[in-house]
Amino acid sequence: MSKEKRLEGKVALVTGGARGIGKAICARLAAEGAKLAIVDILLDIAETAAAEFRTQDIEAAAFAADVSKAESAEAAVDAVMRKFGQIDLLINNAGITRDTLIMRMTEQDWDLVMAVNLKGTFNFTKAVCRPMMKARSGKIVNIASVVGRMGNPGQANYSASKAGVIALTKTTAKEFATRNIQVNAVAPGYILTDMTGKLSEAATDAFLSVIPMKRGGTPEDVANVVYFLCSDDSNYVTGQVINIDGGMLM
Ligand code: NDP
Repeated sequence: MSKEKRLEGKVALVTGGARGIGKAICARLAAEGAKLAIVDILLDIAETAAAEFRTQDIEAAAFAADVSKAESAEAAVDAVMRKFGQIDLLINNAGITRDTLIMRMTEQDWDLVMAVNLKGTFNFTKAVCRPMMKARSGKIVNIASVVGRMGNPGQANYSASKAGVIALTKTTAKEFATRNIQVNAVAPGYILTDMTGKLSEAATDAFLSVIPMKRGGTPEDVANVVYFLCSDDSNYVTGQVINIDGGMLM
């Protein structure tokens, strides 16, 4: 007996979906039958990812957008609507780091990280909320971080942006609650991707020393929880933040 695909007929827009955690989320949602709108800052890497999914008989299309720019987000959402006619699931995943101690952090480091991580989440949430409200249905999952809940030296900009994402999640969950749109966040800890591959050995050891499970997570560990928050199993869950961190923050 073939396994029931629980997201059949749904369209998922994943920002930063061409690589890392975003790509793993695309794979997980597509495995449950979702069609993919892969949004990334560079069209060619988004298109490479989409083409890879299409070879697996998954309906996937690539769209270029800089999430930090409202016009770019609106244009991407319009293009996805023209292509698929609906957006059921929005995963605000695109994110960057510019780590350094606050004494050395430039205004540019601060502004860029806030613009991509926090304003980017606002831009796409705003752009999809009209079609989702019209459909009276939708799920938004924001990728925050445990450091947005606990702070982390060297990440003033990043941790503040992710704390902002958590507050934005709660506010939008309240604003959209009666429209049957659930908004939740996940807070990954130390996940093995290109982003964490750039960390020094000392920073990596510091993370591992505070993880009770003594290992980093995989992008698939994050994707599994995002899938739960996109499925009907979480229909009465909104405004929540789920840590995915091997027990780092309890
Ligand atoms: P990656 O750097 O591997 O992937 C991020 C993706 O987002 C890339 O494809 C990148 O494109 C894209 N992107 C960056 N800036 C923009 C932009 N302005 N507009 C559109 N797309 C953009 O990161 P991860 O997969 O590790 O991280 C994904 C999310 O998970 C982020 O929000 C991150 O903060 C969060 N997270 C990650 C953790 C980890 O341990 N890895 C822990 C906690 C949270 P390009 O590479 O071409 O710039």
